[in-house]
Amino acid sequence: MAYTPTREDFDRYMVPNYAPQKVIPVRGEGSRLWDQEGREYIDFAGGIAVNSLGHCHPVLVNALREQADKLWHLSNVYTNEPALQLAKSLVERTFADKAYLCSSGGEANEAALKLARRWAHDTHGAHKDKIISFRQSFHGRTFFTVSVGGQPKYSQGFGPVPGGILHAEFNNLDSVRELIGDDTCAVMVEPMQGEGGILPATQEFLEGLRELCDAHDALLIYDEVQSGMGRPGTLFAYMRYGVIPDILTSAKSLGGGFPVGAMLTTEAIAKVFTIGTHGSTYGGNALASAVALAALETIDTPEVLEGVQRRHELFREHLGAINSQYGVFQEVRGMGLLIGAQMAPQYEGRAKDILPLAIEEGVMALVAGPNVLRMAPSLVIPEEDIVEGMARLERAVARFVENA
Ligand SMILES: *Cc1c(COP(=O)(O)O)cnc(C)c1O
Repeated sequence: MAYTPTREDFDRYMVPNYAPQKVIPVRGEGSRLWDQEGREYIDFAGGIAVNSLGHCHPVLVNALREQADKLWHLSNVYTNEPALQLAKSLVERTFADKAYLCSSGGEANEAALKLARRWAHDTHGAHKDKIISFRQSFHGRTFFTVSVGGQPKYSQGFGPVPGGILHAEFNNLDSVRELIGDDTCAVMVEPMQGEGGILPATQEFLEGLRELCDAHDALLIYDEVQSGMGRPGTLFAYMRYGVIPDILTSAKSLGGGFPVGAMLTTEAIAKVFTIGTHGSTYGGNALASAVALAALETIDTPEVLEGVQRRHELFREHLGAINSQYGVFQEVRGMGLLIGAQMAPQYEGRAKDILPLAIEEGVMALVAGPNVLRMAPSLVIPEEDIVEGMARLERAVARFVENA
């Protein structure tokens, strides 16, 4: 029966843990979206750093279609060709020897944290259980990952929080020195904090973390769920720093819009996950793996990665021009196509007020915390879409400033 869902249906039928914008997009192509009324939008949000090749990229659509006609799912009682191809491709392109596949970033991090704990337990003893992470960090919504994440509001009110978790200050090595010891099993860090406000780690910080982890025989875990998969202009952000982790997690852009995640690690660490120690019904699902493989092989090419850097400059130029006229930002920062514009002091806490105005002007953006306007577009967004999207964003900013 013909029934057209409305935004009111969200309030009627959905658990109220989100507050989506008023419009409902129904179709996407590249970096453009159309809503139920046929209004067109330019997408600077990219599904929160997920739609790495835009909407309905022909290579991904083909990979999905071809796999859809062959085989969708088997469970881990059997393996499948796309999962093996994806694991091989990830291993060959990174520091890692082994991959664990799952369906989301939170799950990838849950696996990383459990692996680190199990590694420390099996190789050093049960006392080595402390995990150090950073205030304002975000690692997912499972109970372990929200507890390791540095935003207490996400873990409070759910009962006893898992123990052995310590929080230091991002980009402050002294704060890590105070906490790290021989009972530290791992340090988990985003090479560029995403939800925390688009804050790249300094070179010295990651180098210092590597040294501290080595000195205390602790594992260095990079959460590259948001920062990775081509978005920094290299396949992963760690490749820009040249500081190698022991474990790395990926999701978001990895599937280009299909739910998939991966945890990468070395042979020596991987081997503590013996048969039955960890698992997931959907992990390594054939459809998800086929799409991720196509995304990975398309993204990790000089054309796409060099294009990310070119587009980064273009975003900066336009944001700089908007700012020189309206003075709304105090800093534009980020790497590649993960860009944050921090609001000027007089607009403190008001980044989210720009979003509905931007929608009205026909451009979709994001925030990262209360003070940062965030952009995480497709890695192959056409330059004319950047120019047109920025013209629309400028109109939204003008209205924001007028009404502020
Ligand atoms: C989004 C995000 C996650 C969680 O990923 P989900 O797929 O939502 O579980 C974890 N870490 C970082 C850095 C993220 O940005």
